[in-house]
Amino acid sequence: MNATYHNFINGQWVPSSSGRTRENRNPANRNDVVAVFPHSDERDVNAAVAAAKEAFRSWRVMPAPKRAEILFRAAECIAAHKEEFARDMTREMGKVLKEARGDVQEAIDMTYYMAGEGRRMFGQTTPAELPDKFAMSVRSPIGVCGMITPWNFPMAIPSWKLIPALVCGNTAVLKPAEDTPLSALHFVRVLEEAGVPQGVVNLVIGSGPDVGAPLVKHSDVAVISFTGSTEVGGIVAEACAPAFRRVHLEMGGKNVLIVMDDANIDLAVDGALWGGFGTSGQRCTAASRVVLHKKAAGEFTRKFVERASKLKVGDGMEPSVDVGPVINEAQLERIQRYVRIGQEEGARLLCGGKRLDSGPLKDGWFYEPTIFGDVAPNMRIAQEEIFGPVVSIILCDDLDHAIEIGNSVQYGLSAAIYTQDVNRAFRAMRDMVTGIFYVNSSTIGAEVHLPFGGAKATGNGHREAGAAALDVFSEWKSIYVDYSGRLQKAQGIE
Ligand code: ADP
Repeated sequence: MNATYHNFINGQWVPSSSGRTRENRNPANRNDVVAVFPHSDERDVNAAVAAAKEAFRSWRVMPAPKRAEILFRAAECIAAHKEEFARDMTREMGKVLKEARGDVQEAIDMTYYMAGEGRRMFGQTTPAELPDKFAMSVRSPIGVCGMITPWNFPMAIPSWKLIPALVCGNTAVLKPAEDTPLSALHFVRVLEEAGVPQGVVNLVIGSGPDVGAPLVKHSDVAVISFTGSTEVGGIVAEACAPAFRRVHLEMGGKNVLIVMDDANIDLAVDGALWGGFGTSGQRCTAASRVVLHKKAAGEFTRKFVERASKLKVGDGMEPSVDVGPVINEAQLERIQRYVRIGQEEGARLLCGGKRLDSGPLKDGWFYEPTIFGDVAPNMRIAQEEIFGPVVSIILCDDLDHAIEIGNSVQYGLSAAIYTQDVNRAFRAMRDMVTGIFYVNSSTIGAEVHLPFGGAKATGNGHREAGAAALDVFSEWKSIYVDYSGRLQKAQGIE
């Protein structure tokens, strides 16, 4: 018997209104049914938003340190279940177990960090212009927050949105990606167990068009926080525009790892390997482009290809496996399409380039770690997000050239430079138009207490994580208190 899970609406675990369900399967083995989940629609969204709206009345006025106490308990509870959650994540999403543990750990870290905001959430006090007057600003909660999350960080990303929203005093409706609802469900269950009151957090499982779209245009939703593709992010932004709904978008990346001729080559190869092929290349911060100084090209390329060819692809549950499957058939086809495009464009396949579907891999969505050489910066494989284990190597003449190539894409999420020269490192840091930058470390590995997000078509100016996340989920209120008890002369100010 397969386990069957429900939506979480107004403190109850309930099936979808239509009764429709969807069976989710393990991407490493299509014969393994992970569980059965609701296939919800607009009616479920409406019920969840109504519950969140009602719960907002009391949650918003609970003292923030009290809200935080509940969230601290949730962090402890996730930590207690870490191994179980990580194993379920590998089974539903495919990433290797140690990465899944990292994903759960990130949710724990974020929950502790953001719960701490319950005793900070600093506002400002300033001098007032008139005598006997006091001036300050405080953060206020906004209302019901709709959250739409992708499948690549199935617990971490829901935590990045839910916890800051809750600590600020908002209520939430979470719609996780269809392929990975179990990790989101575990997270919501932990919040319930920790004592988050009825209606404050709601979970509606289903597809983008059936659940995401009605959530985004619901008139009682005050904030939308979305992580996913740039294409869908555009649809979400348009849907939010007519009502001026606040929208936070976190979208694609085509991140560059720059390797200078003075770099520690072994270190750079290691960074390119894990940045390019970790999570099967399915991270928005993946190092999908390596911009390589001509003088370092020979040694770097030889070592990179040698190590990539030795990576073991397989079921992420096996400790010896380096690279798990990709998420689903559509994603596998997308990767295959891009590899064909790369070959047609004249790039040279240095390793990989094939689906793996024999022996123990026959029932999963596996693809070889793939490296292209002779890539021109304007080729489609160097410009478009593939979201798979495919890395393009582009040669450069010097640092200025590397930065020019690095910035020649529509995205601006993450970039890295490998160099021993501090001047080069700082210049690249200043001139790369990205939200995140690394020196002698790969394009991946963000920490929860710093802002996460990107420039250009990666985002719309907001950030998750760090104290910056509070700006998405709170509204500033400036407060003036006059304690003079007399008429103060107008100062010609608004
Ligand atoms: P990914 O490649 O991560 O699946 P998507 O942008 O396709 O990126 O999906 C990200 C999230 O957006 C998922 O939860 C998906 O169900 C949801 N989604 C897809 N289409 C829509 C839509 N039209 N409106 C709202 N949400 C959507």
